Amino acid sequence: MGKKITLIGAGIVGVATASYLRRDGHDVTIVTMHPPGEYCSFGNAGMLNPSGCVPQSMPGVLAKVPGYLTDPLGPLTVRPSYWLKALPWLARFILNASDRQVEHAADALRALIKPTRECYEELARHAACGDLIRRSPFLVAYESERSYRADVRAWKIRRERGVVTEEVDAAGVRKLVPQLAPIYVRGVIVPDQGYVANPERLTKALAAQFQKDGGALLTRKVLDIEAGEGGAVALATDAGRVPVDTLVICGGVHSGELTAKLGEPVPIEAERGYHVTYSDPRLELPMPVHVSDAKVFVTPMEMGVRIAGQAEFAGIYAEPDYRRAEVLERHMKRMFPGVHAADKTQWMGRRPSMPDSLPVIGPSAKHRNVYYAFGHGHLGLCGGAPTGRLVADLLAGRKPAIDLAPYRVNRF
Ligand SMILES: Cc1cc2nc3c(=O)[nH]c(=O)nc-3n(C[C@H](O)[C@H](O)[C@H](O)COP(=O)(O)OP(=O)(O)OC[C@H]3O[C@@H](n4cnc5c(N)ncnc54)[C@H](O)[C@@H]3O)c2cc1C
Repeated sequence: MGKKITLIGAGIVGVATASYLRRDGHDVTIVTMHPPGEYCSFGNAGMLNPSGCVPQSMPGVLAKVPGYLTDPLGPLTVRPSYWLKALPWLARFILNASDRQVEHAADALRALIKPTRECYEELARHAACGDLIRRSPFLVAYESERSYRADVRAWKIRRERGVVTEEVDAAGVRKLVPQLAPIYVRGVIVPDQGYVANPERLTKALAAQFQKDGGALLTRKVLDIEAGEGGAVALATDAGRVPVDTLVICGGVHSGELTAKLGEPVPIEAERGYHVTYSDPRLELPMPVHVSDAKVFVTPMEMGVRIAGQAEFAGIYAEPDYRRAEVLERHMKRMFPGVHAADKTQWMGRRPSMPDSLPVIGPSAKHRNVYYAFGHGHLGLCGGAPTGRLVADLLAGRKPAIDLAPYRVNRF
């Protein structure tokens, strides 16, 4: 007999989780304040890389921060008015750069995202949008030996977890992506990876299929969660009370506001990123390209070519600062001097980031009928569908394919 499940959130994590739960025969209702795929899952870089298991906080991160902050083209900014608020999270982030924690996080990330393409291929085929899931190599390009050496540890972490890579020289880089500027002295290619050609369309198509399969979707803002001895009882929303039997929270960066209402605060921060999408770039981009120094991804998409990156700390609610997108445009010009930039759009999204680079997945430690799936940071697309499958296993009483201990809510 299926459960009656209310799930907050229609980003890629919520929609993929709802799809798996519905497939198991549960009666599932999504409650979301944004239409499906119109919040952070709208505009990511689309990377679907089972290799992406390197945590954000790496040994030596503290030494790099001043350089990042003072470089006008750098990947990191903290709004002056937000420094004090960001400090506790940033301090925890830096404390997570120990060797032991990095190895632990890399194991947990790899275990989570290794099956990402298979999970999406299955969901997308069912939703008639299988064309969006592309298997592809991706190239990481280096402008100097120094920047390559700074990444040696990251490559070791990946290789130790079974990721296959190939080193290429400057000529090899040019051969793989001929329109790249001739400024890259070497590269690393990761052969068996993938990307989503339109993350917004993917999320919307999965949500539409979920509804065709009998799932319900309510566009409402959750203002409060009523809880009693037996767990969560109801949601107070901007359009009335919604009683709940079983609650799953996939609220992206707002999840911390929701878990706090249940007495389980979590250290989640908005790591704001930007993109610029060129609709007529006049580029042939045979695979996604990452430039490690600039921390940008350039991905071929069905609507053109997208450059994405930047980590801006300014809180959830501050207005976008599109000078960060202009920084991306300057990187794009440097990487691809021939890009045709007449038709482009800019966007900002809020990565739901935890200081140890690991999401929260699993049951509440306080309420018997509440489950969590949020906090995927830089890897919410990669982690979304695998997370959904794990949550469905938990709710069906099946043993999840991986140990969920590293993602537990009370680890902080
Ligand atoms: C520039 C950039 C590039 C990125 N590139 C990649 C990449 O290449 N690969 C990758 O794997 N990841 C990438 N990411 C990260 C990824 O996009 C996110 O981790 C992911 O989109 C998070 O999905 P989500 O479903 O958790 O949250 P969201 O998409 O933010 O969805 C949250 C949902 O919760 C709902 N919600 C929240 N609070 C409430 C409430 N109170 N009431 C009702 N509804 C509520 C919202 O309305 C929304 O529907 C990137 C992110 C950025 C910004």
